[in-house]
Amino acid sequence: MNSFFDLFFGPGHTPIREQMDVHITLDGDGHPRIEPLDGEAVSLSEEGSIKKVSVSRDRFFACGCAVATSQIGGMCNPCRKISCSIHHTRCAVPSCSRPLCLECSRFLEDVRVCSRCYEPLRRQLARQKLTRALLRPFTG
Ligand SMILES: [Zn+2]
Ligand SMILES: [Zn+2]
Ligand SMILES: [Zn+2]
Repeated sequence: MNSFFDLFFGPGHTPIREQMDVHITLDGDGHPRIEPLDGEAVSLSEEGSIKKVSVSRDRFFACGCAVATSQIGGMCNPCRKISCSIHHTRCAVPSCSRPLCLECSRFLEDVRVCSRCYEPLRRQLARQKLTRALLRPFTG
């Protein structure tokens, strides 16, 4: 797991102590999946100074659900935040269907769409309702 800490120390460092907390879950096929949770490393840099770094991973998805107990859903297209599988969705307009988090979703009755599709769809639905209302006296 050196590369994890190389991000902070650069490639020339001499690790003195590295420690990592991991979370192991089983994937759908029963293979263990290792997720780093927290880590700490003490390292001697090229200039001879001792550096210590602590890493803590996001414990919660953007929707507020805990990473430890929720499945990952996906990355939102407009804002690039990660939501859990329950709160992550796609725009309901088939020609768009971009991935959406809860925050970037607009609700039209019980349909979730992106902000780009919201206005056109809202107008279309309003037109349909109007048409239905206008036809009602004739259709009974
Ligand atoms: Zn969630
Ligand atoms: Zn978003
Ligand atoms: Zn859309």
